[in-house]
Order: sequence, then C-alpha cells, then structure tokens
Amino acid sequence: MISYNFDYKVASSMEEAFSMLAEAGDDASFIAGGHSVVPAMKLRLSEPSTLIDISKVPGMSDISQDGDTVTIGGLVTHAEVASSDVVNNACPGLAECAGVIGDPQVRNKGTMGGNVAHADPGSDYPGALVAFGATICLASASGSREVSAEDYFTGLFETAKEDDEMVTAVKVPASSASAYAKFPNPASRYAVVGVGVSLNMNGGSCESASVGVTGAADHAYRASGSESALAGSDLGDDALDAAASAAADGQDMMSDLAASADYRAHLCGVMLKRAVAAAKARA
Ligand SMILES: Cc1cc2nc3c(=O)[nH]c(=O)nc-3n(C[C@H](O)[C@H](O)[C@H](O)COP(=O)(O)OP(=O)(O)OC[C@H]3O[C@@H](n4cnc5c(N)ncnc54)[C@H](O)[C@@H]3O)c2cc1C
Repeated sequence: MISYNFDYKVASSMEEAFSMLAEAGDDASFIAGGHSVVPAMKLRLSEPSTLIDISKVPGMSDISQDGDTVTIGGLVTHAEVASSDVVNNACPGLAECAGVIGDPQVRNKGTMGGNVAHADPGSDYPGALVAFGATICLASASGSREVSAEDYFTGLFETAKEDDEMVTAVKVPASSASAYAKFPNPASRYAVVGVGVSLNMNGGSCESASVGVTGAADHAYRASGSESALAGSDLGDDALDAAASAAADGQDMMSDLAASADYRAHLCGVMLKRAVAAAKARA
C-alpha cells in the first residue's frame, strides 16, 4: 500500500516530544515501536500529519524493582519484558504474557507504552495488567499522574489517557503466583481471549484471587464473579467450575470472524482454568 505524505520528527527528550506535539497540532501522533500505528496508517485507519518518534527519549527503557514494585519503562519492548530476570522472578505471569505477544519481530519492536496507549481489544497486556493490579504512569507538559489499570482501559481503543499524555512507565506489584493463558488468533496472534490470574495462597487454600480478561469484551475487565468463586476455596473442581462459568458475567462478548460471542464466553472459562493451574503451580 502506498503511503501518504506526513512529517516525521525525532524527539531527544520528553520535553522536546511534548513541545513537538503541541506545535504539530491535534492530528500528530507519537511513534515508538511502530507496530500498531504503521499498520493503522497503511490501512488508512489513522492518518497523522506528523509522527513524533519517541524511541530515543531517555529514561523510559529500563526495568527496575523497588521493594514489591516492578517498574517497566514505556519504551521497554515485549521481548525485554519476557526475558527480564526481574519480571520473571517478581511477576512471572507478566513475563509469560509478554512472551506470547505476536511473533519475534513484534516482540522486539513493540513497546509496553505503545501497547497500553493503543489499547487494542485483543492486546495481551491489558488483561494481565488489570489482573496484577498494575498502575499506568502518564506524563504531559503540565505534569504527571498515575491511573490504575482497571480504571485506565475504558473502551474499544479507548483509555483514560489524554491525547497530550505519554505512557512513561507501568508499575506492577510483585505476584509470584501469577499466570497468563491465551487463545491466540491463528493469523495475527492477538488474543481471541486472554486471562491473567494472580493468587494469594495460604498453603492449599486460596485466600484471594485477581482475574483480568482481555480479547473478550471491548476492553479488559476484572472478572469479579470468578474472583469471588476462587477466594476461600481449595481451587478444587467445584470452585474452578464456578469461577469459569462467571468469567464472562456482566460483559458484552465481542463477536467476529475469529469467534462468536458464545464461543468467546466459553474460552474465558477455559483460559481461566489454565491460568489458575499455572499460577497455583508457582505458589
Ligand atoms: C503482526 C502483528 C501481530 C501482533 N500481535 C499482537 C499480540 O498478539 N498481542 C498484542 O498485545 N499485541 C500485538 N501486536 C501489537 C504490538 O504489541 C504493538 O507493538 C503494540 O500494540 C504497540 O506498541 P508500539 O511500540 O509498536 O506502538 P506504536 O505502533 O509506535 O504506537 C501505537 C500507538 O500508541 C501511541 N504511543 C506509542 N508509545 C506511546 C507512549 N509511550 N505514550 C503514549 N502514546 C504512545 C502512538 O502514538 C500510537 O497511537 C501485534 C502487531 C502486529 C503488527
């Protein structure tokens, strides 16, 4: 497909990126890994007049841990998350999630910030970040703020992020008993349904559970009915069946060529059981 004419600028600092954005006007767009914005431009779903390359902005490419909190910079690639010792030790479910995104090319170019900014309904991170109680760190020329992942993903490609804000980092609480299970679209590898689970175990008993679902509805959601069914249980068959059957409760399942609404609801339960089994094995 032949592209249209657009301006391309490279920001060398966050401040410069914000001033370039203000100067270029409303239809300018940041570009990081380019693995969502470029396909959208090729399909004419998006036609930014200016692309502002933020991939060289310093201070957003690191993974660090402070106590029980892992901070992943907005420019950290999916491959870096998947292979990070810090993430694998503190939150193995998130490393697992990053490792099943797309293919090696996507994982080596796509970034955490770009993924959560784009908020594709089939993206993997949203389900995991909602389940693991993550916080999205945002900054603009006028300051910075933090939004819980649960409040951040609000609709189809819609988030709590304002147009002039950058995703600078994502903070994830440590959760050793965490897992992510996904039923991938066989062509794109996006999640038809993906489920993140974090368990708080006391011996063989599950004191509490957190469950996030992506790909099923128009944005990632917490499956609170499933969480209630798992909490206080021994994660036996009855609790798992109850949690699985509640995984789509209260949500409008999407229906498309990949899966009908009924099949997606079924997959929510199947992926939930797989994620619980993997998380339990890590407890
Ligand atoms: C073939 C293919 C398969 C894929 N499969 C999957 C999959 O299985 N699972 C999955 O989750 N994703 C998948 N993706 C998407 C991939 O993860 C993208 O890399 C990611 O969604 C966007 O990250 P990016 O860095 O490439 O962002 P870009 O494409 O550079 O940007 C995307 C959007 O986010 C904005 N943006 C970028 N960075 C920031 C930032 N730090 N702050 C604010 N706004 C920002 C841009 O302005 C743009 O609007 C796939 C993509 C392709 C091409």
